[in-house]
Amino acid sequence: MNWITKIIKAGEKIKTAIRERATKEDIAKSDWTSCCKGPILKKDLEENLWVCPDCKRHHRIKPHQRFDILFGKNNYEIFKTPIPKDDPLNWTDSKPYKERLKSARKKTGLQCGMLVASGTINNIKITAVASDFDFLGASMAAAEGEAFLYGIQHAIENQTPFLCISAGGGMRMMESLISLSQMTRTTLAINELKKNHLPYLVCITDPTAGGITASYAMLGDIHIAEPGALIA
Ligand SMILES: [Zn+2]
Repeated sequence: MNWITKIIKAGEKIKTAIRERATKEDIAKSDWTSCCKGPILKKDLEENLWVCPDCKRHHRIKPHQRFDILFGKNNYEIFKTPIPKDDPLNWTDSKPYKERLKSARKKTGLQCGMLVASGTINNIKITAVASDFDFLGASMAAAEGEAFLYGIQHAIENQTPFLCISAGGGMRMMESLISLSQMTRTTLAINELKKNHLPYLVCITDPTAGGITASYAMLGDIHIAEPGALIA
């Protein structure tokens, strides 16, 4: 090894050390996150319903955290929704879709990107769905469509209002037309809800985009949105 290779090796070691210093996983596991004024304790943010006390930014939160706020901790039921066959088109881009699904499930602990729950707000029973942006950008595919339809069906059977907390980049490319058909399926399901004279409420959160905006996120009887949410 001459002096040049020694320097190059040392440089690579430093690069690796920097890369390893703070991976996204480390940040996810840490007690801290960051906002306008630098580091902020997640505990402090949580006490303020995940809204920054300084800049009022609404931080992205997980479906469980959302339901905790809406219904109260341990005060709601999460439903197991049908999971269709993985990767129906046998899709591979820079990585096989099967692998992407596997790591999304490991990362989020969810089987698909959308969760359905039922709880009460002011003594009114509500069925709600919320999406996890960490699950492939909360994109919609067959499994998420099934979750949405399960939620609507639950609302109709139990005569509850249906609340959709929307988030996600749109329809999932890796399931192509199967994903796109979820736009029609969710729209038809919402029509069924309305035929049953049950309210459809939408709370738009950051970010809501693509086919999600072009279908179920814009069909509410009442829409509210978190300030600053990207809607595209
Ligand atoms: Zn802030």
